[in-house]
Amino acid sequence: MALLYKSTRGDKNLITASNAILKGIADDGGLYVPTEIPKIDFKLEDALNMSYKELAYEVLKLVLNDFTKDELMACINGAYDEKFDTELIAPLKETSDCGVLELFHGKTIAFKDMALSILPYLLKTAAKKNGEDRHIVILTATSGDTGKAALEGFADVEGTGIIVFFPQDGVSDVQRKQMVTQEGKNTCVVGIKGNFDDCQTAVKKAFTDKELKAELAEKGYVFSSANSINIGRLAPQIVYYFYAYCQMVKAGRLKLGEKLNFVVPTGNFGNILAGCYAREMGLPVNKLVCASNENKVLFDFFTTGEYDAKREFILTSSPSMDILISSNLERLLYHICGDTDLVREKMNALSSEGKYDFDLGSCGFVGEYSSEAEVFETIKSVFEKENYVLDTHTAVAYSAFKKYTAKTGDNTPAVVVSTASPFKFAKDVLSAIDKKYEGLDPFKAVEVLSEVSGTEVPKPIKGIDKRPVLHDICIDRQDIQSFVRNKLV
Ligand SMILES: *Cc1c(COP(=O)(O)O)cnc(C)c1O
Repeated sequence: MALLYKSTRGDKNLITASNAILKGIADDGGLYVPTEIPKIDFKLEDALNMSYKELAYEVLKLVLNDFTKDELMACINGAYDEKFDTELIAPLKETSDCGVLELFHGKTIAFKDMALSILPYLLKTAAKKNGEDRHIVILTATSGDTGKAALEGFADVEGTGIIVFFPQDGVSDVQRKQMVTQEGKNTCVVGIKGNFDDCQTAVKKAFTDKELKAELAEKGYVFSSANSINIGRLAPQIVYYFYAYCQMVKAGRLKLGEKLNFVVPTGNFGNILAGCYAREMGLPVNKLVCASNENKVLFDFFTTGEYDAKREFILTSSPSMDILISSNLERLLYHICGDTDLVREKMNALSSEGKYDFDLGSCGFVGEYSSEAEVFETIKSVFEKENYVLDTHTAVAYSAFKKYTAKTGDNTPAVVVSTASPFKFAKDVLSAIDKKYEGLDPFKAVEVLSEVSGTEVPKPIKGIDKRPVLHDICIDRQDIQSFVRNKLV
């Protein structure tokens, strides 16, 4: 029987997984959630010997269950190939404190590759299954990493086009350069005067604008999303929680069946929500520790039950987590209360008053956060003690993990989820290791980090400063809709 998906905000339509991927967001502005989270039908013991691809199939067949085996295998094989620099796809490293799950071995050296290398395949397959023959336009807001990973995934994919909006001054130099040098004749990259929340809100609005939708439909276009509002982004992320668990068992840090904590550097709440789904599917997970940077709206939420986005937006050294409105939290609210009327009410309060309160009960999540000083201190101490270089986002989580264990005494084995290569944020990483690097040019820093860490510069950013800029548009946030209209109509 097909597992169906429904909107978190009450729209009564139940649709298949493939249709939910195609639509991206529900007509009422809600996010698609499974009506029931399926349980795994394989033994964890058997998963120990599976490759990443094999495990991906076992998990995805349950969550995206209107795809046939052949369809899923084709998607998985197309995604997790030599685009990744290791056959393990998501290797586990160890420090004396914990496991570190490295999710940055794909084409753009950040964790977004884990889902965005398969999303174009899922989307194309979904279009075919649902008889959708219009041109699919991917609209994406990015805090830095989604944009590049989506561009790489969709560049020159027939029948699709992609427009990426990023906060002009809210991404790292390497992130910006990665995006504006993107090749592919169906790609478009646009800087926005504003922060990530401004981009995300405007893009979500464009999605649900009925007039714009009708105009575009007439021209043969249909929108979809590569942001984690799309269930096709979330589903592939569930896989690596199982994979990490197996690697911890194989490393002898955990007994099969024993519980594990995950500490996740969080922005839009997509990564950690996949961990929650993994737990519901039957993975033995104790706590999911949600780690925030100084934009600690989620820490406050998990400690007080009040979500208050009305606060100063802080630009930090972990820009992919500089977010005050975490889209996927909406899915957690639904998961906890099961009441779409209540979720709709809370989301309306968020957009009109900028805040709401919610009874979290015992949700199995813990909030923690790290200041900029703690992030820099953690990069330095982990490098000196473990000879391992953390990027700024992973350092937020590592520091949060240390604070959490010190506070609670919880000594459950733990995995810190590592979301980016330190090379992507080389300048800040080096400054943390030694102040003498502070004035360094951001691209020079990449080479220096290679010497300091004794690791090679990852291929995707080698010589990136010399690549030609192919996109140099910058617009006001209120012009996003008219930009899309002019571009397509
Ligand atoms: C996107 C991103 C995050 C945040 O992930 P969410 O799923 O939005 O919570 C953390 N670190 C890096 C490097 C990212 O690119």
